[in-house]
Amino acid sequence: MIPVKIFCACGQKYSFEVQPEAGQMPVSISCPVCQRDGTTEANQIIARALNGKTQPLPPPRVNSLLNAAQPNLEPHLVAALKDAIVQELALQRRELLAGQQAAAAELSDLARRLEAVQTPMLERLRAYEQRILELEQELGAQTKENRELLKLKIEMIRSQLAVERRRVDFN
Ligand SMILES: [Zn+2]
Repeated sequence: MIPVKIFCACGQKYSFEVQPEAGQMPVSISCPVCQRDGTTEANQIIARALNGKTQPLPPPRVNSLLNAAQPNLEPHLVAALKDAIVQELALQRRELLAGQQAAAAELSDLARRLEAVQTPMLERLRAYEQRILELEQELGAQTKENRELLKLKIEMIRSQLAVERRRVDFN
């Protein structure tokens, strides 16, 4: 059973324990006061509990927007607040996507440079391993928000390295 505590945008807090199905809420839930759907937030809390993550979801900037909301806001202010949150989430998703694309571009750049100079296979493997080492050192010095991206880069290069290694085995 996973304890779930939800702080609704209307100001109401509610909590319950749930046995997740396939890592998610088995049924949808909503705020007892304003009926706002809380299933997405509950699923995030469950995912966080299952992954043992400590990073708060939704992200802090969104939380502070929600916490700043008064329970008896004018409807047009509620709508404006919702818009702000939707835009904030969209921005964060775009930033993450851009980060992933940059990581992929960097990796294919490295692969292209190595191909271009027809680097012998052993040197190519060393270059990938060197890049992983560099990134791992960078990882230690990074702020939390950049760590996920760095880990992603390391994983991408590791799988590239695995592909190259298999190529060596075939030759
Ligand atoms: Zn509510």
